[in-house]
Formats: sequence, C-alpha cells, structure tokens
Amino acid sequence: MRFARGLTIRRDWTSDSTLISSSIFMPELTEDILARLRKAIQPERVLDTTLRLCAAPSPTGQAGPALDCLAEMLQADGFSVERVAGGHAAAPAVICRLTTSRPGRTIQFNGHLDTVHLPFAAPRRLPDRITGSGSCDMKGGVAAAIEALRALRETGVLAAGGVLLTAHDLHEAPWGFGQQLNALIAEGCVGDAVLIPEYLNHCLPVVGRGSATWRATIRRPGPPVHEVLRPANEPSVIDAGAELAARLRQMAAHLAHNIEARAGSESVFIGQMHAGEIFNQFPQECWLEGTRRWLPGTPPDSVEHEFRGLVEQVAKRTKTKIHVAFQLIRDAFLLPESSPIVAAFQQAYAQVAGAPLPLGPKPFVDDGNSFCALASVAAITHGPTGGGAHTVDEWVSIADLSRVALVYALTAAAFCPPPAE
Ligand SMILES: [Zn+2]
Repeated sequence: MRFARGLTIRRDWTSDSTLISSSIFMPELTEDILARLRKAIQPERVLDTTLRLCAAPSPTGQAGPALDCLAEMLQADGFSVERVAGGHAAAPAVICRLTTSRPGRTIQFNGHLDTVHLPFAAPRRLPDRITGSGSCDMKGGVAAAIEALRALRETGVLAAGGVLLTAHDLHEAPWGFGQQLNALIAEGCVGDAVLIPEYLNHCLPVVGRGSATWRATIRRPGPPVHEVLRPANEPSVIDAGAELAARLRQMAAHLAHNIEARAGSESVFIGQMHAGEIFNQFPQECWLEGTRRWLPGTPPDSVEHEFRGLVEQVAKRTKTKIHVAFQLIRDAFLLPESSPIVAAFQQAYAQVAGAPLPLGPKPFVDDGNSFCALASVAAITHGPTGGGAHTVDEWVSIADLSRVALVYALTAAAFCPPPAE
C-alpha cells in the first residue's frame, strides 16, 4: 500500500519508483491463466450485478443506497467490506480487499456509483445491452470490476499482493467535485496503480487536460431603473460583460498555441451569458459562465490566478464589481508509458483482443486525474462499451461487461507478480 499525505502535486515522475521502474518483473500470462479466468467469469452474474446497481437511484450526493447495495452483494459473496465516510457520512464509500498470503503490489479497481441529476430511468435488459440511469456511467463498469475480483478469488491466480476495490459518491460535477475520493486518497486508501472502468476503450488514455468551471458575476451599485432614468455615471453591466467576453476570446487565441500532441490545446470557453429583464430596463447584473482547460505541467492555481487577473482588469476599466467563482474539477494528468501498470494492462489486453490498445488522450476528466495529481499513482481508464452518459438514454453493452472483467482480472495477475526468488 502507498500512503499519500495531503493534497500535493508531484510533477517529477522520474522520482517515483512505482511509476517508472527499470527492472519490472512481469509474469507470463499463460494460456492456463487465461483459460481459468475466462471460465470463472460468469456473464449472467455480471449482468445481474449491473441490474441491481442500476436499480438503486443514486444522484450525486445521494449514492448511499447504491453503495449499500454494492456492500451487501460483496458481503453475500463472502468478501469483507469496510465503509469509510470520507467526509460524506450520508453515503460512506465501499472498500473491499482481496489479499494473498505473499507480499507484493496492490492493484486498485476504483469507480463512482453516483449519477448526474437527471430523471431516473429504471434498468432494462435488452438482447445486447442494459439501459437505465448509470448503466454506462459507470455502474456497468463497476460491476465488471467486481466480477474480476470474484474471478481472481475463485481461481487463485493472483501470485502475490492483492486487489483493493473502492466505490464512492460525489464524482459528478457540479454536484460533487471528487471530494470523497480525495479524502480516501488523503487517508492512504490507494493502491500501487489503479484501473478505472469508465466508458472509454477505443484507446489507452495516457494524457488528459485539467478542467475547471468558472462564473463571473458583474454588478453595478444602483438599483434597476427605466433606461431613460439611467444615472449619467452609472456603468453598464452589459458593456462590461461584452468586454469580458472579448478579452476571453483573446485569451482563448493565446491558449490555442499551448498544444500537446495527444491532448490538444488549452482553452477558455463561454457557455452562458445573461443580463436584463426587459428591453428598456437598465440592468444591475450580468453573468457569464464557462470552462477553462489546461495541459499537464500547468499548476491549477496559476490558471486560476491568471483568470482572476484578467477579470480584475475588466472590472477596473468598466468601473463594475465582478465576483468570480472558480471551481477546479480535476487537474491534468500524464501517465508515463513505461509504468508497470501500462505494461500489465497491454499484456492483458493483447491476450484478449490479439493486439495492444493504441495510446491516446482522455477527453474528459475522471478519478484517474485525482490519483495522478494527489498521489502520483498511475491510473488507467478502461471500461465497457456504452453510450448516453449524462443523458436519460444510457446503455452498456452486455458482451463487453464480461470482456472488461476478463481484462481487469488478467491485468491484476500481470501487475501482481510473485516476489523474486
Ligand atoms: Zn463516470
């Protein structure tokens, strides 16, 4: 186990022996191991687990019933389960360990059971897929990870070390910002590498941009009045909003030059702008809202500082007051291609699919960014094929649940080798 203390960002990857090791012993994933794990994975069981997790509504902040359901299933399977509040007692996280008698590495399977705040869609089983809230994002993936855990225990193929399974709430922004997972990481509940079964599997994501949301609220001191009664020296919040939008467009043009080959460029984006009530009232308030994304190597606090500096200049020039709410979602991440988990995963993936997975970017932020930024632990996002995340029409492929379970179990077997003789 690795013990992380505090929320520090370490960018010197080469200083971390877990991430880069020159002499990695990687056991051969034999045909025998593959055959045993393939046989142990039960498609009907992983399907049933998905349906049961999806049947418990779990909007972010209220994932308690879904986490309870997961804990009960694991206990019924004979696993011992720990519940840790992580600062959110309403829905304690689920922690479950599979250990061997030989010391070694710990591989972590981590997922969130909360869903975005949309009307609940009950799970349905169709011939090729399961539909319903959370099926794609990411209860299907969590079910696949659980199936991997079961298969590893039943076959006993893990040579040393163990598996740490964590499931939690407070993932989906803007209702949560990963604070429960951050608390678990700060308490040392971290493996030596992490697999995250989010719905991405067309590439192995090795880099991703950090992201934050922002809202700038522009105000003037006087009350709302008819436009003809507008005091001569009173600033216009709409003019100030337009100026801020123009300055952010300039900023976006500069940021577009900061490019990483796989992740793309930095950005600042305006998604909403509102002011005024009727055509001839001089309004009091104008607000703009959007996102800011950055590349690995840029500290999030410097991003925030730069943004606030630009807004202050606009406020000063337009003689308005501008309040900025800047919310970090997740920091950027970079996964060293030489880290042992990448080698283990690619070996496992190739054994199932015939060839390793091409490397690529991660278009969204997920818990992998937090493991990387807060604990310097390598994390790979790879989950079942699905769609409709963050809509009311989610689905996950039934066949792919078992494939992911097999890849996870094989990766664990490759990542947790027996101690050198
Ligand atoms: Zn998700």
